[in-house]
Amino acid sequence: MLIVQKFGGTSLANPERIRNVAARVAKYRAQGSQVVVVVSAMSGVTDNLIKMAKELTPLPNEREMDVLLATGEQTTIALTAIALQSLDVPAVSLTGAQAGIVTDRVHTKAKIANITPRKVHALLDEGKVVIVAGFQGQTSEGQITTLGRGGSDLTAIALAAALKADLCQIYTDVDGVYTADPRVVPAARKLAEISYDEMLELAGLGAKVMQSRSVEFAKKFGVVFEVRSSLNDNPGTIVKEETRSMEDVVIRGVSLDKNQAKITMVGVPDRPGVAAHIFKAIADANINVDMIVQNVSHTPDAPATDLSFTVDKPDLLKATKVIDGLKSAVGFREALADEKIGKLSIVGVGMRSQPGVAAKMFETLALAGINIDMISTSEIKISVILDVTRAEQAMRAVHDAFLRTA
Ligand code: ADP
Ligand code: ASP
Ligand code: MG
Repeated sequence: MLIVQKFGGTSLANPERIRNVAARVAKYRAQGSQVVVVVSAMSGVTDNLIKMAKELTPLPNEREMDVLLATGEQTTIALTAIALQSLDVPAVSLTGAQAGIVTDRVHTKAKIANITPRKVHALLDEGKVVIVAGFQGQTSEGQITTLGRGGSDLTAIALAAALKADLCQIYTDVDGVYTADPRVVPAARKLAEISYDEMLELAGLGAKVMQSRSVEFAKKFGVVFEVRSSLNDNPGTIVKEETRSMEDVVIRGVSLDKNQAKITMVGVPDRPGVAAHIFKAIADANINVDMIVQNVSHTPDAPATDLSFTVDKPDLLKATKVIDGLKSAVGFREALADEKIGKLSIVGVGMRSQPGVAAKMFETLALAGINIDMISTSEIKISVILDVTRAEQAMRAVHDAFLRTA
């Protein structure tokens, strides 16, 4: 068996935890498996590096950010290898580049272009445990890149696909994927299984237990994986292709994203090409836009409307700069930024065949006296933007309405 095991930051938070990880890896190897270990930085390290850079300047150079952030994982690969060696397990650490992970040139959120894991195979064949730095790769020109926050998940899934691993395990600090973040919703339950599409939506909508791009990758290449705890041996959650019985559950989970910010452009001229102009400029700055709401104008002589959209909070400053730069070309009145929003979502493949789900969600929020700012829906999800100070209360109420067990 070839197993890929990924350990997140909390699982590596101190030497004792690292020893614990090494012991688990050693156990699998003693059973005769080949093991590739993907590690994150120690918890808090990446945040801290970002904080230091931002103390120097609010918009640090993205190439240098990647050089900086990659050091977090470079520390843990070496420490994990040292811990394994201390247990007499032959182990060797590899950076993302050494493991053959090649990405595009989009610093701080690079996409994996290809993986040539020749070295990983060779080391496994020598009987070594191979420890690979998560979250990082290099461009074909040899520049260090990183894969976006939570990107070690992507490294693990992509390596599992490239190595054709028999098993891919994502070890974290909770027992699996829950119906909601168990830190916010104490009544949340662990799911035995979840479809790629549901996991993709939950992850993309704020459930940071898995990086959403990693789930996208797993779906594309059919990598079945398990999310489980590094602190016990409980079975985790299997993430895989949808099966018929999954449709019987209307709502699989609830998620909350506090990492978005809203920009409202007031008095935008209502004529063809304006939205294209605005969002092309935003896209050219590599900023992802999530929700967009545009009203109809009601002043026929000088048609103008308000345009609101959301971006990831770390991109807000960059986005407001882009928008300010459009002022004369587009001719809007002013742009307002709001960081105090939360996006609450419900997700489930069973929603497709069940009417009244949105109504029940809105009614639940109304009963709690919580105002809805923006709404967006897809086949298997409903999201609302609301005041961040009420967001966790809203999450518990909605979880209670849809997922409370009898
Ligand atoms: P790691 O460092 O292992 O990558 P993360 O902190 O990125 O771990 O993700 C694990 C955390 O995700 C959990 O501690 C939990 O608070 C949070 N989380 C959010 N939504 C969910 C969910 N639906 N199920 C499980 N955990 C969730
Ligand atoms: N260390 C990186 C982060 O904190 C990647 C990861 O943990 O997956 O985002
Ligand atoms: Mg993570």
